[in-house]
Amino acid sequence: MDAAIVGTGPNGLAAAVTLARAGLRVELHEAAESFGGGLRGEAYFDSDVRHDVCSAVHPMAAASPFFREFDLTARGVELLAPDIEYAHPLDDGRAGLAHSGLDAACEGLGPDGPRWRRIMEPLVEHSAGLVEFFMSGQRSVPGDLAAPLLLAARLLPRRLTGGFREDVAPALLTGVAAHAVGRLPTLTSDSVALLLGHLAHGSGWPLPRGGSERIAQVMADDIRAHGGTIHTGSPVTGLGQLGHARAVLLDTTPTRLLDLADGRLPAGYARQLGRFRYGPGAAKADFLVSEPIPWTCPEVGRAGTVHLGGTREAIARQENLTVRGTPTDEPFVLVVDPAATDPGRARPGKRPVWAYAHVPNGDRRDAVELVTSRIERYAPGFRDTVLAARGTAAGDYETYNPNYAGGDIGAGAMTLYQSVARPVPRLDPWRTPLPGVYLCSASTPPGPGVHGMCGHLAARSALRHTFGIRRAPSLRPTTTTAPA
Ligand SMILES: Cc1cc2nc3c(=O)[nH]c(=O)nc-3n(C[C@H](O)[C@H](O)[C@H](O)COP(=O)(O)OP(=O)(O)OC[C@H]3O[C@@H](n4cnc5c(N)ncnc54)[C@H](O)[C@@H]3O)c2cc1C
Repeated sequence: MDAAIVGTGPNGLAAAVTLARAGLRVELHEAAESFGGGLRGEAYFDSDVRHDVCSAVHPMAAASPFFREFDLTARGVELLAPDIEYAHPLDDGRAGLAHSGLDAACEGLGPDGPRWRRIMEPLVEHSAGLVEFFMSGQRSVPGDLAAPLLLAARLLPRRLTGGFREDVAPALLTGVAAHAVGRLPTLTSDSVALLLGHLAHGSGWPLPRGGSERIAQVMADDIRAHGGTIHTGSPVTGLGQLGHARAVLLDTTPTRLLDLADGRLPAGYARQLGRFRYGPGAAKADFLVSEPIPWTCPEVGRAGTVHLGGTREAIARQENLTVRGTPTDEPFVLVVDPAATDPGRARPGKRPVWAYAHVPNGDRRDAVELVTSRIERYAPGFRDTVLAARGTAAGDYETYNPNYAGGDIGAGAMTLYQSVARPVPRLDPWRTPLPGVYLCSASTPPGPGVHGMCGHLAARSALRHTFGIRRAPSLRPTTTTAPA
């Protein structure tokens, strides 16, 4: 066997695709009974209604160089654009609406439209360079040098969400910044706001028709079509189990690498891994509801993603308490009603709703009640539409997926340091000191999200260092992998 991959999240699958496409024999080992990691789907309550277990919305997959070349669309995965990319209701029935068209978004923001345009428009024009810079984990100088300069011009004055005249636009932008799941505002959260914020007006925040599991399926198809094998229900408990492979790529956290290596790592490197920090957790609730969410502002129901947290100041207050480990009753919540974008996800009188709250790491509170009361505030009557619900407390996430330590769905805090030095400060952070052993999970650059780039970059490192292959393999669909 050429390469063994431990874990089948989007990064494990991307690593396997890259290696298999380079002509290597790969095998994947997945602890769970199904492959996909953060791309899994389940019929929790009704056999006809599928729920996204983890990821639901895919701005990163739509923009990622890995997925652009892999070409999800050509493989039959339809990335559906929501009517409105994301929305942010406020208490008095008003809401910020991020239309994909910049003109429509700016018009909706009234007197703050011109500032929104000044922030976003140049970034949209230089999107390819910006994406290249972020998705390489800041390890490649983009061909378009204007991109990092535009970024710096927006980040360094440290007032990204300031300078607006009303409260809607700063709340809208802070909701995007909160995707960093950490202290607000920081350079990291502002960078996330600029990356995801400008993508809403470019490649968008799409939902795959049928759910995120479709992405995992076509990746698995490509791996199998190129000779790879996937073993589910196959937990790896020590590197010794994989001694037959020339390279081992771990879609796991650094903490798990410490366990798997069982004392074989050099002491200095092991100490660095031991200092890796996890961030706040997610408390996820899944609902089966009888009708669309009754938002006070009806336009919010057209959005792919909805952010609940109130004003810029309120979100920052809640997020900063959460980072410090203080539970709050009014956490930041993300809500997705997939059938608003993909009507095929609903059945008569039944539709899935996906939502999670940012909570302290390891928090064990009931996710359903926490999330329901937040939705109810902006959509009174929501509670009465709920036919069934299930919650996963942050403290229980690790049982489902060991990568989500204490419920940290980013597989490591996105602090400024850890967004670059992830998991350790190295030019090639994917390569470990153990010959042939690589980390390829979201605990490596460019970090969390479904983009496949951690896996792809780790595989490129393995190709160079273990197999002496410098040339990047083609990831494009071949006749054997294109949809029927
Ligand atoms: C509730 C939730 C909502 C999210 N929403 C979004 C979203 O809308 N959009 C987005 O882009 N991202 C989202 N994310 C984040 C995204 O899912 C992750 O960043 C992404 O899945 C990370 O990919 P990965 O391959 O690094 O790891 P994972 O997807 O976590 O996969 C790791 C896999 O490795 C397996 N594994 C671990 N250890 C072992 C072992 N020892 N042996 C065998 N197998 C092992 C695990 O079982 C798991 O299947 C969300 C995550 C969660 C939890």
